[in-house]
Amino acid sequence: MKLFFVQTVDGSARRGYNYTYGSVLGRLGNGRLLAHEFLHACGLGDIYIAQTNATLLKVEGEVLEHLLPDDWACGYYPEGTMQADVIKRLLMYGDGDYSPSKADMVPYGDIWGLGYKGTGTNQVWSLGPQKVGLKDLNRQPVHQ
Ligand SMILES: [Zn+2]
Repeated sequence: MKLFFVQTVDGSARRGYNYTYGSVLGRLGNGRLLAHEFLHACGLGDIYIAQTNATLLKVEGEVLEHLLPDDWACGYYPEGTMQADVIKRLLMYGDGDYSPSKADMVPYGDIWGLGYKGTGTNQVWSLGPQKVGLKDLNRQPVHQ
């Protein structure tokens, strides 16, 4: 793996990014951000709860077994737990807030949520199972 420690990424000192030539961390990036970018190099993607542009897609409703079948754990979620609440606890949650007290969980399998493929203006967003778990981890990290 190649790591680049820079002042800012897209104007933010807290951001990171996984490029084809390496992972880049802004000067305020922390261990959580480093772990997030490392898991990108291991093949995992970001997961989101809502898209911010005009074609709004968002995750709604309570957590259900078919939304996280490999991580249901007999359904020990407090009543009223929303799928978006679960996503916010994941290390691959791509909200850009990587403070240590925030999400740090890595599930075993896919989690239903919002993801995208592509880069820049060629992003295609979709709701569905997102590869954010250990099951899909490539243990020989490469920059993509
Ligand atoms: Zn990410």
